[in-house]
Amino acid sequence: MLKYPHDAHTHTVYSDGSGAIADNIATAEENGLTLLAITDHSHYLGPKTLNRYVREVKRWAEDSEVKVMVGIEGNITPGGVDVPEWMAEKLDFIIASVHEWLETPEEYLTLVKAALMDENVDVIGHFGANFPYIGFPGAEGLEEILELAEAKGKAFEISSRYKVPDVEFIRECIRRGIKLTFASDAHNPRGVGNVGWSERVFMKSGGKKEDLLFGEFL
Ligand SMILES: [Zn+2]
Ligand SMILES: [Zn+2]
Repeated sequence: MLKYPHDAHTHTVYSDGSGAIADNIATAEENGLTLLAITDHSHYLGPKTLNRYVREVKRWAEDSEVKVMVGIEGNITPGGVDVPEWMAEKLDFIIASVHEWLETPEEYLTLVKAALMDENVDVIGHFGANFPYIGFPGAEGLEEILELAEAKGKAFEISSRYKVPDVEFIRECIRRGIKLTFASDAHNPRGVGNVGWSERVFMKSGGKKEDLLFGEFL
């Protein structure tokens, strides 16, 4: 059983997930989650599909005892985060993630900094998932990221899919009052609520309810 049963990052057939919105919500109910977010990839959604997506999440949310939020996972590109204003204004919150193939950790941090400066962004998705492949940034680089996140009031997710960020980084977030979320990043309804790793690392880092972005709903 989870102490803070929430999953703030899941996908459906509205992007590259395999389940319907209702399937993700059903699994969240079965697993006793208090809060679930549907966060499909931004580049699958045009203005019409976005409206249908938001309407559908809200309709299923009405009949559920789970608090269901409608968000999106945007891509952090060299041109900025690909979540335009018309999209942002319809959503409860926005995750921004690096999905680009990069050569160095410095390039990665430059992209994340741009996302931290973006007013529409709420959460940085799977921060550091690329580091095992492109190299780990130095302490100074990470310090800059943490300072900026603190100054801009941004949150980080603890990704059970990619097992990032590490305990040290999460401890630093907690110390600075940077909020956190749990994320399965499930692309299949069966994976919804698979946030055991997120919670273990959060607890190990000394996290408490008030350190969670959505703590008020838990
Ligand atoms: Zn992602
Ligand atoms: Zn995702």
